[in-house]
Amino acid sequence: MRIMVTGGAGFIGSHYVRTLLAGGYPGSDSVSVTVLDKLTYAGNRANLPPAHPRLDFVPGDVCEPSLLRELLPGHEAVVHFAAESHVDRSVASSGEFIRTNVGGTHAVLDAALATGVQRVVHVSTDEVYGSIDEGSWTEESPLQPNSPYAASKAAADLVARSYYRTHGLDVSITRCSNNYGPYQHPEKLIPLFVTNLLEGRTVPLYGTGENRREWLHVDDHCRAVHSVLLGGRAGEVYNIGSGSEYSNNAVTRLLLELCDADPSVIRHVTDRKGHDRRYALDDTKIREELGYAPAISFADGLAETVDWYRSNPAWWKAAKYGTDGERATDPHAAGTRRADREGVAR
Ligand code: NAD
Repeated sequence: MRIMVTGGAGFIGSHYVRTLLAGGYPGSDSVSVTVLDKLTYAGNRANLPPAHPRLDFVPGDVCEPSLLRELLPGHEAVVHFAAESHVDRSVASSGEFIRTNVGGTHAVLDAALATGVQRVVHVSTDEVYGSIDEGSWTEESPLQPNSPYAASKAAADLVARSYYRTHGLDVSITRCSNNYGPYQHPEKLIPLFVTNLLEGRTVPLYGTGENRREWLHVDDHCRAVHSVLLGGRAGEVYNIGSGSEYSNNAVTRLLLELCDADPSVIRHVTDRKGHDRRYALDDTKIREELGYAPAISFADGLAETVDWYRSNPAWWKAAKYGTDGERATDPHAAGTRRADREGVAR
């Protein structure tokens, strides 16, 4: 089997590819992988093995139909991770989110259809549902995205649905809760806080810190995506959750303990515009249909994640500050550095 993985140099995509190449899923030791990744500020070629007999790495843009049509023949499946993924960046500037997340998903679906790829998994997010004060979302819940990031993912989900309904493309959509784990870019909450604490700096907590998220280890997410690839039904959506719901205050307290830091390092900063209060998924469908269950508890996964950042300072310092201490090639660099200094990035 040959699979194209878009966005395979990012946090989640690279975990999926490394696990595939390591034979980490039943039958995956004979799978060949093409990674298509534009290597934006969030993508890093070094997240993948430098050379592997079953890996082809193609630097390129998922928004380019001709590139996709050239590459896709011979692939049985596409797992589509490539996206702009950081909510704060979408609040600051949303054009790239619409281009990559909507236009790129359309280009992938269209090229898969044109080249006869048999199976597509579109990796989406729980953020498409909006915010929920009580209870949890099923796959039937309405899409009410609040940030430009979430709106671009919701739009992509609808394009994917249309390619199933109109053209019969065998595409499934996954909607996962917040991920954490190794190789996550230090712009996101957990790695930002861990790396700040390891540097002896303060941590910037948005608003009251009472926003609640469901946290899932990246390894559990990727296993769920692979089970959807193999066993998911065409045109269906699968929520992927953990049941591990924590407020940002609670996550911060756990990180302070793991890093031996004092609560006085918490700085409350002005809340994110339109900050969703709570996300919670009902993932009964994937558990009952595909036998999925998360395997890593938040306590264990978080401790391992902190250890990974402690042991890999060169990786996160390059992502956070650039190899020369600056981020000259990153169009968002100035904003990111400023935000990080002021402590509002997450
Ligand atoms: P990430 O930002 O770490 O990685 C995104 C990758 O996509 C990078 O390697 C980047 O270079 C690549 N990319 C961006 N634009 C591209 C383009 N135009 N062409 C080709 N490659 C491009 O993101 P992530 O956290 O790994 O998220 C992966 C997917 O999972 C996204 O679709 C995201 O919406 C979804 N998701 C993420 C989470 C989470 O908590 N991180 C939760 C649920 C769903």
